[in-house]
Amino acid sequence: MFAIKKLPIVTLPIFGSDAQYPVRRVYCIGRNYAAHAVEMGHDPYRESPFFFQKNPDNLDPSGAFPYPQHSNNVHHEVEMLVALKSGGTNIPIREALNHVYGYALALDMTRRDLQSTQKKMGRPWEIGKAFERSAPCGPLHPVDTVGHLKQGRIALRVNGEIRQEGDLNQMIWKVPEMIAYLSEYFELAPGDVILSGTPAGVAAVNKGDQMEMSIEGLGSALVTVI
Ligand code: MN
Repeated sequence: MFAIKKLPIVTLPIFGSDAQYPVRRVYCIGRNYAAHAVEMGHDPYRESPFFFQKNPDNLDPSGAFPYPQHSNNVHHEVEMLVALKSGGTNIPIREALNHVYGYALALDMTRRDLQSTQKKMGRPWEIGKAFERSAPCGPLHPVDTVGHLKQGRIALRVNGEIRQEGDLNQMIWKVPEMIAYLSEYFELAPGDVILSGTPAGVAAVNKGDQMEMSIEGLGSALVTVI
């Protein structure tokens, strides 16, 4: 019995399956591709990894992204999503990939103007990052079918024009390192997902734009700004 309406479980679709993947938490790494760190005005090689969180129900596989209120500068950040099937604390790097269920295409949509203001004031980023439907994503591809993605092209086109381009092998902190690091500060668990950072070329979108995210091995997916 619940005192208020029972909440729905947030789930992601799985490619080629009717099963659903339940989401518990969403961790996002900042500045994980050197060229993107530089375009944002930072030195990519002198920082520890850092993370922020989005909310599970910010993930949206619908293919539509509603342009949010209170921003005139909403940026796309194409990223690979890593979904865990198990977790723990103090996971060694060499065992980290054993906890991965699969991978998906995702966007870390960002109200850049609000995030910049928060940064200048030394305040948290939620208002710029963790808003409604701020993480459009594709279906999960299980490791059983696609293996572990360590290299391959990651790209984003807007209205057919290339905006972001990089290779998964350019990540400063690799997937096993991110899992190991997070597990020292949080107890990781099944249903936790990690957005693994964006390559250079982040830029603004407008209503009506069509974003096409692609990662070698995961195919591509369209998201329309509405
Ligand atoms: Mn990001």
